[in-house]
Amino acid sequence: MMAALAASEEGALVTLLEKNNKLGRKVFITGKGRCNLTNASDVGELFDHVVSNSKFLYSAFYEFDNRQVMQLFEQWGCPLKIERGNRVFPVSDHSSDVIRALERALRERGVCVELKTAVSHLMLKADACVGVQTDRGRRYEADAVIVATGGLSYPATGSTGDGYRLAGECGHTVTALTPALVPMTVLEEDAGAMQGLSLKNISVSVWDGKKCLFEEFGELLFTHFGLSGPVILSASSRVGSLLSQKRLRLEIDLKPALSAEQLDRRFLREFEANSNRQLRNVLPSLYPMKMTGVIAARCQLPLDKRIYEMRREERKRLVDMTKHFSYEITGLRGMDEAIVTQGGICVKEINPSTMESKRVRNLYFAGEVLDLDALTGGYNLQIAWSTGHLAGVHAAGNGGNDEFFNCN
Ligand SMILES: Cc1cc2nc3c(=O)[nH]c(=O)nc-3n(C[C@H](O)[C@H](O)[C@H](O)COP(=O)(O)OP(=O)(O)OC[C@H]3O[C@@H](n4cnc5c(N)ncnc54)[C@H](O)[C@@H]3O)c2cc1C
Repeated sequence: MMAALAASEEGALVTLLEKNNKLGRKVFITGKGRCNLTNASDVGELFDHVVSNSKFLYSAFYEFDNRQVMQLFEQWGCPLKIERGNRVFPVSDHSSDVIRALERALRERGVCVELKTAVSHLMLKADACVGVQTDRGRRYEADAVIVATGGLSYPATGSTGDGYRLAGECGHTVTALTPALVPMTVLEEDAGAMQGLSLKNISVSVWDGKKCLFEEFGELLFTHFGLSGPVILSASSRVGSLLSQKRLRLEIDLKPALSAEQLDRRFLREFEANSNRQLRNVLPSLYPMKMTGVIAARCQLPLDKRIYEMRREERKRLVDMTKHFSYEITGLRGMDEAIVTQGGICVKEINPSTMESKRVRNLYFAGEVLDLDALTGGYNLQIAWSTGHLAGVHAAGNGGNDEFFNCN
């Protein structure tokens, strides 16, 4: 949609082909239905949140940055607000207003939108793309074509990976596709026993032997299969692709603000004040209720043990467990639960200043179909807006004011 708008703004005649019966089905479910459409941090900071190929985005982010995205949406009648972590949402808290703003702009600029139209092939002549063909055999000739078919995640929204096939058919490399920003499965079964428990202000690290690969402070959620929540989603993006080659261990520091010594002193105070009570009655003042049984079991401490019977070494076991509550990661959940796809069309084969294919003239790519992904916070949509805008502007430049897509 953003690519179509940018191209029409440049004077091109544009047709947008969408296989669903409405536009923006994925946008509709973003940000839990509120659409975190970008992030208002300094543009330089956007790069730190891009996981794959951030340097490729230099032109795209600087030519059409988050401020410009915000300005445009406001201009299109969608007022915005900035929340915690500079996340930007529509004031209404309805993603449908973001889609409506885009639809209105498309209408005003005369972009021809054809719904229920799935592109099945790119039409090539020599080394150039000259149009597309739909699954019903209809052909659209064009001076330029932009493929913005999204990734593979949440395929029910329409992003079923068609763009990878289209790119592959004309000689592009598609890198390994894995789910990212996705929950993790773990070996230990006790995560399931704590299903529904959310831990705030914890620190999570991921280890390959003694090497720390990831560390982040935040929130985590136990589920019936393992772990989810914001910190886990970030970890999945940063280290998920390594799981096919390595056994990784995830460690939760339940009290990151306290050193082991401080925590030991805290436990000692609690134990001295409750020396006649059983462990089962004291642990709830130190851990969330759902965790107490799991902690005791992992430390091999019977819950009916009296506190005055606790030895120093047993208290130390509790301290260690609190600072290093660990799981072996067995894998990632599937594409249908992933927020983005990691991997995609190899960006080395795309001109970063124009989004044009280096293999096929007049063919452009934008958005998640490219090997680009970022953390949560509005960055993935910013990638889509920025690359879409760049592709639109340059694709329009190809055809001048000639008919860009044939909309009959
Ligand atoms: C649950 C969820 C929540 C998310 N929340 C956020 C968030 O709050 N903030 C954020 O920044 N990112 C979020 N994302 C990620 C973000 O939605 C995507 O990265 C972004 O939508 C990618 O944009 P895109 O245009 O490349 O692809 P898409 O938005 O997937 O759009 C691709 C479109 O192409 C159409 N299409 C596919 N194949 C064909 C074909 N052959 N012919 C015609 N049309 C075709 C599809 O139907 C689809 O409409 C979220 C993702 C999910 C799944």
